[in-house]
Amino acid sequence: MNNIKLSHYPYTLELKHPFGISDNTRTTTPAVLVEIKYEEFTGYGEASLPPYLLETQESVQFFLSQIDLSSLYDITDIDSILSTVDNLAQGNNAAKASFDIALHDLVGKIKKLPVYKMYNIPKRERFTSYTIGIDSTEMLLIKLKEAENFKFIKAKLGTLDDKKIINTIRSETDKPIFADINQGWSDREAALDLTLELAENNVLLIEQPFSKLNYTDTAWLTSRSPIPVIADEAVKRLSDLDEACKAYSGVNIKLMKSTGISEAYKMIIRARELNLKVMLGCMTETTCAISAAAHLCSLADWVDLDGNLLINNDLFDGVNAAKGTIVPNDLPGLGIRKISQ
Ligand code: MG
Repeated sequence: MNNIKLSHYPYTLELKHPFGISDNTRTTTPAVLVEIKYEEFTGYGEASLPPYLLETQESVQFFLSQIDLSSLYDITDIDSILSTVDNLAQGNNAAKASFDIALHDLVGKIKKLPVYKMYNIPKRERFTSYTIGIDSTEMLLIKLKEAENFKFIKAKLGTLDDKKIINTIRSETDKPIFADINQGWSDREAALDLTLELAENNVLLIEQPFSKLNYTDTAWLTSRSPIPVIADEAVKRLSDLDEACKAYSGVNIKLMKSTGISEAYKMIIRARELNLKVMLGCMTETTCAISAAAHLCSLADWVDLDGNLLINNDLFDGVNAAKGTIVPNDLPGLGIRKISQ
């Protein structure tokens, strides 16, 4: 027996604005917060659970309740602990991520190292995009004001009004845009026409244009598009990359899909070998998971880590992109501090 204690509890993230994507709008995101305590150290982690991930607070807590750390010999042996946890059950990617993030925070605190130094990743301040969900013209204009400090806009598209949304944004700003379709397009000829038009309008990339299952039309579009076509919903883990590189020019890597920091890091390395561009993205999350991802940000081509700016009830202080840039801090572990119970 040792004195390692894993605990977890459900938490509901309250969004500042209803968040619209191609097939739904929501005002909250369920989450589960995780703590691993060892001696005087506490590591924090988080699972954020947007509905499309198909994990729930109940499924995450059930998965975490199966993790038995009581006979663990070395809490700092991250790789072997994560491998054991991964083998407990298939799927459960966000649940696994919450544990991975808490373990990295704990081990960093024990070793007195920020996570980026544990991986020998260079520290570099990066611009991050600000995400604007699908909304009325009036609300789009309000959200564009909120995005004032940001150099890049991430616009959610995939509706019948895509041109109108882009025109509304362009009436206010000529900032470069990442267009996230969230699987919302289905007609490939129309998709190509719109992509060509978007490219003319300083849209830098298209994310997940078609269904995640539709590799044929995606490959067709990618081969004709002047701008990169990025996989999001189609790629979760390392094992998905070899297939993705046949149809996409890049991949959006997120901790909640990748099972956490450890595999996200491996995915970035593998994506480079496959000549895939890399976006580092997030869900709506507290500063806990955003700070975790920030340690990898210097390795990505594009950074989209604004999820903590979209919620009202953050529990942590740490990395914050409110001024439009993101950089990991030098405190041990994730570099966060809990500010509320
Ligand atoms: Mg996306």
